[in-house]
Amino acid sequence: MRLVMKFGGTSLGDGQRINNAARIVKEYVENNEVIVVCSAMAGVTDTLFALVDRASRGRVRDVEITLNNLSEKHFKAIDDAIKNEEIKKDVKSIVKELIEDLRRAVLSILYLREATPRSRDYVVSFGERLSTRIMWGALTELNVNCKYLDGGDAGIITDSNFGEANPLMEITRLEVRRRIGSLLDRGITPLVTGYIAVNEEGVITTLGRGGSDYTATILGYCLDADEVWLWSDVDGLMTADPRIVKNARVLSTVSFNEAIEMAIFGAKGLHPRALEPAMKSNINVRIKNTFNPPHPGTLITSKPEKSDMIVKAVLLVKDVAMISVRGASMVGRPGTVAKILETLAKENINVMMISQSVSESSVSIVIKREALPRALNRLETALLGTSLVEDIESEDDVNVVAVIGERMKGTPGVASRVFGAVAKKGINIRMIAQGSSELNISFVVKEEDGYEAVRAIHEEYGL
Ligand code: ADP
Ligand code: ASP
Ligand code: MG
Repeated sequence: MRLVMKFGGTSLGDGQRINNAARIVKEYVENNEVIVVCSAMAGVTDTLFALVDRASRGRVRDVEITLNNLSEKHFKAIDDAIKNEEIKKDVKSIVKELIEDLRRAVLSILYLREATPRSRDYVVSFGERLSTRIMWGALTELNVNCKYLDGGDAGIITDSNFGEANPLMEITRLEVRRRIGSLLDRGITPLVTGYIAVNEEGVITTLGRGGSDYTATILGYCLDADEVWLWSDVDGLMTADPRIVKNARVLSTVSFNEAIEMAIFGAKGLHPRALEPAMKSNINVRIKNTFNPPHPGTLITSKPEKSDMIVKAVLLVKDVAMISVRGASMVGRPGTVAKILETLAKENINVMMISQSVSESSVSIVIKREALPRALNRLETALLGTSLVEDIESEDDVNVVAVIGERMKGTPGVASRVFGAVAKKGINIRMIAQGSSELNISFVVKEEDGYEAVRAIHEEYGL
């Protein structure tokens, strides 16, 4: 089989775990063609973002300390992952050079007191570049003939939307086949950095948070892989976040549509677009646990096994805010919703949910919390003072609960059962939306009620 195997941050969380991941790869390369994708070590991408932030505020000492900690973390991981002195020495010298590059980039931000989306992508790209070199050392020690490549060198080419770049699929497919294909032909196992790519000028871009999953499916699509395996720290996609619902269960199969819906609402930090390339080319995706490899995990496929479950999963999105736009004269006058969406789109703010009251006198939308100040600013400028809108209000202490399942479509009474379960707990629902796909029902509650609402529905459907 041709397998793409992506290892998430927790699966590469320290030297021991990197070693463990390398052993898993070793087990499969004997009888398969494997393409390995590495995330950054757990926490490193967050730290790199913080580093850019501190540098752009001129926090010299913080920057020094953070850089030293990062360096220490990676050198310790090398010591723990690799025993062979010669390989260890090689990896250390490669990592040392990378850290020097990183230091120079951060210092330039520090001097200029300015970070651009482009320089930020450059800095955060180091997480995957570092981890991949250590993985290379661990695999080399296990006698796996392998070669590491950064996303761009592997042929992944994107537009220049730094921070959330979009792969240019046609050219990427050609380049990946040429570059990775030739390694596979020679029996070499490619190790590719997740998350990062280049634009057409060769400048480093990133695919957005959680983007290593996306790298894996892009490679799977380009190379006509048989399956893509996403190795993580859970046995699979679960009926709810295990941190919220203690007895959440692993789903053995879900459809692509359900999994995409789950990803959009944040399940397992899956990149929302990660499943697109796999779905397009009908490549099965498996979520597996590096800490429990014999477990079959979750299979994401176009033909999931028949199941009686109407609701498959209940998810909570925490970092959101709700905006309500009100005005009596909106009634019967088309265009207010369009105007709201257009205003936010111009600011690159994604609307996660939208609902309009029956009387049409108010429209509510949900967006990411961090975008709230910008969104309010733009909407107030664009809408207030027009005859349409009287008032714009917002709440930033809310959560979205999303109930997902393909079989909800055409099953009557799902909504009343869902809202009934929530009402029984005395929880007030602030807003409701149902996508036209009928794959999900989502609603907004106060932040303090979020966990309770998830648990109530999980229990109601016996998940
Ligand atoms: P990785 O580093 O492997 O990419 P992530 O941290 O991105 O892993 O995602 C794994 C985590 O997602 C799990 O540890 C779990 O706590 C969380 N999670 C939230 N919702 C779900 C869900 N529905 N199913 C599985 N995991 C979930
Ligand atoms: N390291 C990146 C992140 O933390 C990409 C990933 O892990 O998938 O978002
Ligand atoms: Mg992830």
